[in-house]
Amino acid sequence: MEVIKIYDKDFKLFISNAEIRTVISEMAARINRDLEGRNVIFMGILNGAFMFAADLIKQITPNCQITFLKLASYAGTSSTGTVKRLIGINEDIHNKTVVILEDIVDTGVTLENIIKQLKGYEPEEIRVATLLHKPEAYLKDITLDYIGIEIPNDFVVGFGLDYEGLGRNLTDIYKVITP
Ligand code: IMP
Repeated sequence: MEVIKIYDKDFKLFISNAEIRTVISEMAARINRDLEGRNVIFMGILNGAFMFAADLIKQITPNCQITFLKLASYAGTSSTGTVKRLIGINEDIHNKTVVILEDIVDTGVTLENIIKQLKGYEPEEIRVATLLHKPEAYLKDITLDYIGIEIPNDFVVGFGLDYEGLGRNLTDIYKVITP
């Protein structure tokens, strides 16, 4: 068993890069079929989605735009908690099909926040593509149009995902070993 240490925790190999690549290719094929002829803009959510977005976008065939957005760490509070402001929308997305690219959808709180803000720009449609999803932790009813791999409710790192800012560079995905 391959075990690595990141910061103060041990992680074991969970999903190999070969498996990740297969899943991304299958997802790209579905997206290509579904969005043929549309005016598409992919929006990768930083930092976690950079690696997934890069691998996916290389296999997208229709003409499309790609940009990256980031949630600013603080923008005020609401009854539902901290609302992070979405920054980096410089393109006109009015009448475009937006495909949000996420590294992982866990509770869905982040995704809901992103979608609420994007709706203000009046895109034609918003779709969601996520490499990983934790169905047991999911609290929202937003449809996830493209899900790469459903995983149990364990903490994972690698392929863009971090623990304490570390591990994003790993090409495989590792899962925490709980003592
Ligand atoms: P949510 O708002 O609970 O869906 O969480 C979304 C964000 O939490 C993701 O975009 C990640 O940044 C982070 N996150 C959730 N689960 C994990 C994990 O297992 N490893 C690393 N980051 C995670």
